[in-house]
Amino acid sequence: MSRIVYVNGDYLPEEEAKVSIFDRAFLMADGVYEVTSVLGGRLIDFDGHLTRLQRSLDELEIRNPLSREEWLAIHRRLVAENGIDEGLVYLQVTRGAPGDRDFAFPPADTPPTVVLFTQNKPGLADSPAAKVGIKVISIEDIRWGRRDIKTVQLLYPSMGKMMAKKAGCDDAWMVEDGFVTEGTSNNAYIVKGNRIITRQLSNDILHGITRAAVLRLAREAQMEVEERPFTIAEAQAADEAFITSASTFVMPVVEVDGVALGGGTPGPVTTRLREIYLDEMRKAAI
Ligand code: PLP
Repeated sequence: MSRIVYVNGDYLPEEEAKVSIFDRAFLMADGVYEVTSVLGGRLIDFDGHLTRLQRSLDELEIRNPLSREEWLAIHRRLVAENGIDEGLVYLQVTRGAPGDRDFAFPPADTPPTVVLFTQNKPGLADSPAAKVGIKVISIEDIRWGRRDIKTVQLLYPSMGKMMAKKAGCDDAWMVEDGFVTEGTSNNAYIVKGNRIITRQLSNDILHGITRAAVLRLAREAQMEVEERPFTIAEAQAADEAFITSASTFVMPVVEVDGVALGGGTPGPVTTRLREIYLDEMRKAAI
């Protein structure tokens, strides 16, 4: 069955939704995006994602064409029309389609392009991968220097996922100057005893919305949090490791570059954090 998607003010069957070939995101990856998960038909951390969207747009001087209420109404209508109980809402805003290709930004009054669609993912919270954990490889981080802006330039992360697949693994952790930055589409953590270690925020990584919630909930649960870089060797010697993202929540990592962690099964800190995160976020969902 075809989805109903949103394009520039219209709700249309996906086959009828069209964007110009001159769109700046198509030609120059000149756009930003957000992914909000849906559990029980409600949006998880919607305001966190909207706040980051505004920041990404501000950093690139793209106008936000919609108010919070309008964004929320579109999200809710797409969730309802597509009958999403568990899944995702993807949104993208681009610098628009000025009608020709030019490196210079188009005039400021060029309307941004806005696209939203849902992805139905039954069993998102009760994921089989969360029970067994995932395996990661390390790859060099060769991305640009503004990874804090959530742009649609996802070619290298996409290549990283393929490198992991070819190596028989699930994902890749990127390494710069000897330290892990983040996963291809998630933030990376290791656990030593009761202490959770993850890289501090900077332009080197995306400021994960899930990361912010997980670190807050970990501190509230009296776990220790240390925000600093770590190496692959340190990860391989850790008790546990995990990743976070809007679509995987808290996902255990049980192998790093072929070395099994904590007996090769998800550890107690990660398992507890996943439970706390899902419980609290379901309660606060809108
Ligand atoms: N880091 C990168 C590079 C990402 O692409 C993502 C999500 O897409 C994340 C981290 C996690 O961010 P969030 O928790 O907001 O989904």
